[in-house]
Parts: sequence; C-alpha cells; structure tokens
Amino acid sequence: MDWKEEALRRQEQIIGDLQQLVSIPSVLDESSASKEAPFGPGPARALEWMLEEGRRAGFAVKDIDHMAGHIEMGEGEELLGILCHVDVVPAGANWTYGPFEGTVKDGKLFGRGAIDDKGPTIAAWHAMKMVKESGVPLSKRVRLIVGADEESGFRCVDRYFKTEEMPSVGFAPDADFPIIHAEKGIASLIFSQQSFEPDGQLLKFHAGNRTNMVPDQATAVTNLKASDIAEAFESFLNINSASGSITEEEGHTKITVHGKSAHAMEPDLGVNAAVLLASFLNRVLEEGSSKEFTQFMFEAFGTETRGQFLGLSFNDEISGDTTLNAGIVEFTESAGGLVKVSMRYSVTYPFNDKIETCKNRLEQTAFQLAVSSNSKPHHVDAEDPFIKTLQDVYTEHTGDEADLLAIGGGTYARVLEKGVAFGMLFPGREDVAHQADEYVYIEDMLKATAIYADAISRLAGEKKGDQ
Ligand SMILES: [Zn+2]
Repeated sequence: MDWKEEALRRQEQIIGDLQQLVSIPSVLDESSASKEAPFGPGPARALEWMLEEGRRAGFAVKDIDHMAGHIEMGEGEELLGILCHVDVVPAGANWTYGPFEGTVKDGKLFGRGAIDDKGPTIAAWHAMKMVKESGVPLSKRVRLIVGADEESGFRCVDRYFKTEEMPSVGFAPDADFPIIHAEKGIASLIFSQQSFEPDGQLLKFHAGNRTNMVPDQATAVTNLKASDIAEAFESFLNINSASGSITEEEGHTKITVHGKSAHAMEPDLGVNAAVLLASFLNRVLEEGSSKEFTQFMFEAFGTETRGQFLGLSFNDEISGDTTLNAGIVEFTESAGGLVKVSMRYSVTYPFNDKIETCKNRLEQTAFQLAVSSNSKPHHVDAEDPFIKTLQDVYTEHTGDEADLLAIGGGTYARVLEKGVAFGMLFPGREDVAHQADEYVYIEDMLKATAIYADAISRLAGEKKGDQ
C-alpha cells in the first residue's frame, strides 16, 4: 500500500475537515457548562462533530457523557488506541488570520488547534479511514479516543477510563516526532516554615504564580534601611549579571529582582528571581525567622536545581537528572515562608525513599515537606516491539533516524498504560502550539497521515501466519 500516495489523493478532504473542526471555538467555558456540554458548548460541539464523522463513515462510535468519545474499527481481543483531543486553549490576541477560520496560506493552515491538537486528530482520523478503505485485514481493534478537556486538566480521559477499556497499546499524536517514550514523574512539593516567630526584619516576600515556570521577578518588603544595603545590593546584582531596584515605600524598603523565565522541565535555562533575592537577603539579615527562610532558600536552591541539599537528587540513563523548580515563593510576617516546587523526577526514581531522606534532612532546618500531588513517570521500554514498529515506520517515511526522546514535561500519552507520544510536530519545525498564528504545514499533515496509516496497519494488521 502506498500510504503517501493515498494521503495526497485526500489532500482537499483533509484540509476541508481540518477547517471545519478549527471553525468550532472549542474553548473551555465553565460558565455555560451543562450536562450536554460539561466543558461548555464549544468542546461539546467539536467532540460531536468528530463522532458524527465516525458515524457517517460507518465506524462504531461511543459518546461518554459528552466529555470524551471514541471511533472504532477492526476486530480482535486486543485494542490499539490513538489518543487525541479537540478542545483548544483560548485564541488570545495578535492573530494575522482569524483564529477560527482555518486560512490556508503559503502551504500552511492557520488556526487555534492547527497543531494542538485538531490537525493531528484529523490526520489520525483520515489514517484510520485509509486503512479501513484499503481493506487491510485487521486482527486488532483500533480506536480513536477523543477528549474534550485536555488543555484544562484531563477530566475527559479521567472520565473515559473510569468505564472504558484501556488499550493494550497506543500512541498520542499530541507532541513531537519521532517518539517520546519516557516522561519524568511530576510531583508538587511544598516546603513550609515551622515554629515561626516574627522578628520584624522581612515583612513580605513574593515570587511566581505557577510551579511549572521559573519566576522571573521577586519582591521583598523589609525593615532594612535602603541606604544601609544599597551598595551591597548593587554589587550583588553586578556579580550575578542581574537587574533590580530598591525603593522606599511607606517607611519600608522594597527590593525587586528580575530573573529569566523558563519552563520547570529545565530550570537551568532560566534565572530564578526568588533564589537571587533570597540569596541577597540572606547576606544582610540578622539571625531570626526571617533569615531562616532566606537561609533555606539559599541552601536548597541557591547553587543548583538538582535537589542535592534536600537529598532528592537522582538521575538515570533513560531520562536524565531529577530537577527542582522553586516556582512559587512566599513569605509573610504572620505565616513565615512557603516554597512550592515542581519536581520532575527520573523514571526509575525511588520516590518514597527519597522523600523520607529529604524529610530527615529537613530536621536540621526550620522547614517541613509535604507532597501535594504526584503524577507517576511514564515509560515504554526502548526494546519493546511496539516501539520498534513505530521507529521503522517513521524512518521509512522520513529517511531520518527515529531517536527515542525522554522529556521532563508530561504529554497526553501518560494516561495510556502502554503508550508513547508520536508526532505530530516534526523535528526542526517551530513549536507554535498555544501561540498567536498557530499553524500546521499542509505537507506535514499529509506526511503524518501516511505515517499513522502505516503504523495502524502494521500494529493492528493481521500478521503473516495469523489464522
Ligand atoms: Zn495538546
């Protein structure tokens, strides 16, 4: 079967379908949510549009509480899952073309969801239709699982897998090609200051709003005299090539430091403003609860992001270093210090032992640790025949090596028991997901459709010798 040829023949249909799906503004809207549209009317309409496509083409279709659904073909015990989503993040401003119009220009189709994840959904859907129409005999069932709440907390797939079958194997076209086979664990850690006594030095400290970003600004309000610390502050900024300011406000001194934002999956790509400001304050504060806070910040995060001081460091060959990002850092006179950390831990991380070690080490400090959430690592063995098949397909269609990727972020694939992220952003392509003028190359749509069709036919097709 020449899948490339087949995909090319369908070019107009594929573009037309993607334009229709893009034209549905499937943004979460809790304010108009109902039983028929649990994430608001847009996501419900997009889901229904997709399922209706399945019904019209004669596939078995199931709607799960208007939150998710599936389109199925084939027969057999085993189930191959392809996990997609039809909800999108809000359009935002600064679009050249209408975010819900699907304008085609210069070989690209523009629109919110073009690459995340409506384009990939349409590619996978046409791949299924191509396989069905080709008459390739299947010895497994193949299911396109469609979620309508991926962007805001996965309630779609949480609901779906409460009652529906977990595929024996699967892939999610909601990230990058070639193949992401390992995703680190993601835990939220909260370090809070205990037995705190106000000492009148540090009144307030604030940095960051989200644990998954390196804070790029930190502010402190203190009772230190601006004239006493101005010189030390200036030289601290110079040594650290950072910028900041000191101002007098209502009898207090306000200190601001700027850093550089980055995603928590590699905090070393950013400069943590909270860590910088705490490190400076730690030099000028006197003993007391204020200094216990800055001392902790300095020791735990001041020189590295791998959790060595805290006893949390660990790395493995599959997924690399465990990383810690102090994303939200607060201090108030009444409650003391609070540090919220996103930890991305290696796939073979001995989680409970490490947390125990950390708690023991914290006994030397004024801080305590609580784990507020933990999403386990996700990993499919590199030697698994499933992976080998995807690699073969990818290499045959692109001529490129299908290197296996391990990442510190989480993809949609982690909800599958045995699943990987497989496309649809090709290496070297700009990642425009969630941005203004999001687009997908038409050429990539067709290439991916052929790749998915080939993958489906090899993973679910009858093997020679099958009876
Ligand atoms: Zn997505």
